[in-house]
Amino acid sequence: MFIETKKRKTMTPKSTINRILPVLPNIIDKYGTAVFIYDELGIRKNAERMMKSFSGLDFKQYFAVKACPNIHILKIMKDLGFGFDCSSPFELSLARIVGATPDDIMFTSNNTSVEMFRRAQEHGGSIINVDDINQIKNIPPPFPELMSFRYNPGKDRSNKEGGIFDDPSEEKFGVPEDDLLNAYRMAQVFGAWRFGLHTMIVSNELDYQYHLETIKMLLSIVMILKRELGIQIEFMNIGGGIGIPYKPDDKPFDIKALGLEATKLCQDFKKENGFVPQLCTESGRYITGPYGVLATRVINRMKKYKTFIGVDSNCLSSLVRPAMYGKLGGGYHHITFVDRKDLTVEKDGGDMENVTVVGSMCEGTDRFAFDRDMVKAEIGDVALCHDAGAHTLAMSGNYNSGLRPPEVLVRPDGSYLLISRRETEKDLFQRMRPI
Ligand SMILES: *Cc1c(COP(=O)(O)O)cnc(C)c1O
Repeated sequence: MFIETKKRKTMTPKSTINRILPVLPNIIDKYGTAVFIYDELGIRKNAERMMKSFSGLDFKQYFAVKACPNIHILKIMKDLGFGFDCSSPFELSLARIVGATPDDIMFTSNNTSVEMFRRAQEHGGSIINVDDINQIKNIPPPFPELMSFRYNPGKDRSNKEGGIFDDPSEEKFGVPEDDLLNAYRMAQVFGAWRFGLHTMIVSNELDYQYHLETIKMLLSIVMILKRELGIQIEFMNIGGGIGIPYKPDDKPFDIKALGLEATKLCQDFKKENGFVPQLCTESGRYITGPYGVLATRVINRMKKYKTFIGVDSNCLSSLVRPAMYGKLGGGYHHITFVDRKDLTVEKDGGDMENVTVVGSMCEGTDRFAFDRDMVKAEIGDVALCHDAGAHTLAMSGNYNSGLRPPEVLVRPDGSYLLISRRETEKDLFQRMRPI
């Protein structure tokens, strides 16, 4: 889907890069580096493509707030007709601030406290998606009429090694097979009479067949619940986990094929059973990931036992994935360089070198790229870290007192808006008792 030329030099779509580059010099001039930049039109077009793929179905997408928890991004999601997948009280607040109604909020939490459930029930409530049979009793009264359980299928759905969820039976998430019927039974006793079914057993999976298998698995559970308990499941939610191509040889996710085959599955199910649940997703990464970049300035070239390129940010306060998953073979973010002499021009070709791109934290894993063949970078060039629109700034922290970069949204008309400012030393002092 993102391939616009046969040999692409960018991972983030070329169209997004082409909308960001013309305003990059002004954005950097105004807000400095490092800075996150998001492409609203890219996000919207991709979301519309997704919705179109499922247009033959009763379908609802809930944006996983944790992927990019800025209210200006969430406002776009609301605008697109998306709901919100929330897992903490503050995520509930973010969704409600942009106008989410109770049926727009999927509260997919885990290890949930009574207080968290109470927050989920405020303001007309939300769709509570329970993660463990023992948490049913923690839901404060009045007990919701509509609720859902997160199912964990265990070893049967183990997938490739080295994945983030390689074996569901090792995970803390979800209700195991043996508890599932009892969980629904118990919820009925507590007073629920409308139900959904949820699962999430994969992360960043590029093969749509895997997600299709998940829909098949849920449909078989839907049958069992109908037969055993007389429950007609209203929605089945496959969670997030639709992948994006971070690496040059990754194949883009075929959303159209998933839509087509899911539609066929659901239509066949309906023919046989007289009903079919609404299909839901909680995608985060797929929605915003490719449409954001982190722009960070090259400030040093260092020759040690290997060649290091130093940039003016660090992984821990901006782009955590390479530092967190790098050793597991994950966490790759593609990087290109913009020419210091003209910040609207992405360097292409010329001298190549093998480098490691690093930040300034006292932490060995603070590496944006490790032993990578790249176009030669000069001091003053700007490194664009691609696919930085999801699970990046949201994951970051202040370890080693790094300050988080600001976020800028490039709008469809080419104008841009600062949607969160740069973190300051004052922000860090604020939580400490003064001396
Ligand atoms: C993280 C998460 C998501 C979103 O995952 P993506 O990889 O961004 O699609 C959705 N649902 C739940 C329950 C999650 O924990």
